[in-house]
Amino acid sequence: MGAKNKPYFYFASDYTGLNFKGGGFYYGYEHSRCDVCGEVSASSCCEKCETDTEWCFVATFDGKKIEIPFSKLGTKDMFDLVENLSVGIGWVLAKYKLKEASYEQ
Ligand SMILES: [Zn+2]
Repeated sequence: MGAKNKPYFYFASDYTGLNFKGGGFYYGYEHSRCDVCGEVSASSCCEKCETDTEWCFVATFDGKKIEIPFSKLGTKDMFDLVENLSVGIGWVLAKYKLKEASYEQ
């Protein structure tokens, strides 16, 4: 049982994530997207458009970066961090083929 592959979970009041060997999942304010101009910032309001931004789920793995904004996750509350992180991971598992099906520790 090696600890080197142990995933690392972190949680704060406005972001959460799970890092693992070769990638990570993130949900929170640091990746907020304006749905008017499309710009990403770490702010709840787009400076350019002066509109609200939405927090995003971001998955990084296998050389890919996948972003799912809150409105596409299908959850009810943008501030329910654990639900949005978990549902984001669920979308990744539902939509992307994993390279290896074996479990290694
Ligand atoms: Zn904008």
